[in-house]
Amino acid sequence: MRHVRWSCSSAVLIAAIVAAPGHVRAADAETTARLDALVAAYPEALARHDGRTLFWRDGTAMAVSDGRPDKPFKELLANASILDQLRLPYRTGRLDAPPGRDDDPGRFRNEAFFKTMYGDCTKSEVQARMVGITWLPKSWGKRVFVTRVNGVAEKLKAVSDEIETLPAEIRKAAYPIAGVLACRPVADTGRMSMHGYGAAIDLNLDVSDYWMWQRKTDPIPYKNRMPQEIVDVFERHGFVWGGKWYHYDTMHFEYRPELVRAGTK
Ligand SMILES: [Zn+2]
Repeated sequence: MRHVRWSCSSAVLIAAIVAAPGHVRAADAETTARLDALVAAYPEALARHDGRTLFWRDGTAMAVSDGRPDKPFKELLANASILDQLRLPYRTGRLDAPPGRDDDPGRFRNEAFFKTMYGDCTKSEVQARMVGITWLPKSWGKRVFVTRVNGVAEKLKAVSDEIETLPAEIRKAAYPIAGVLACRPVADTGRMSMHGYGAAIDLNLDVSDYWMWQRKTDPIPYKNRMPQEIVDVFERHGFVWGGKWYHYDTMHFEYRPELVRAGTK
């Protein structure tokens, strides 16, 4: 009896010793992996991280955490740290089911991070870095102005070229463009969207669905008419799709290679 009791408690003790450091290591490894993906996603701007601080090539240093890991959803939308920005995994490819409640990978954005990256549109810094590209030259052929930072303009040109190869029925969801630069905060976050940095594009409004247009029911009913083929093209070039958010915005694509890079399917 005594032997059995000893064995049992020994096993629990050993399990605790084995589990505790392993658990700590796992959490650190996850943080490291997310920050590695962030640095790798923006090679022009970011140099390295040490797990606590993000070091930019221009000498800027930013703390990755604000010491408040348990913020509620609304607080995450309004005041995300750099680690908060990376906390919800984005899955590439076709959705198996509508996003779960508040599953909005990409909507937590650290404003200091993106202002340092793309500039402040209220001071015309973003506009000074924008260039014109011709969107879908064969199907639509109008100029849209997007940021050249991080090669976003070239990536959108590549997206446009690939969409041109899709069947007309699918392609027509990608034009006319509903908008790129919008120097104003998002309604429900009070923070600048990626449109404030010239790094987001809204496609054809006529085939788009937006959670705020729905009647206020709980949970929010999911709707989407954006073809998967178009989503696939954008994801291949580092853009996340607003149709993968619980608070969905199916015309919306934004350049967030750190999420696509770390994304799984
Ligand atoms: Zn948008």
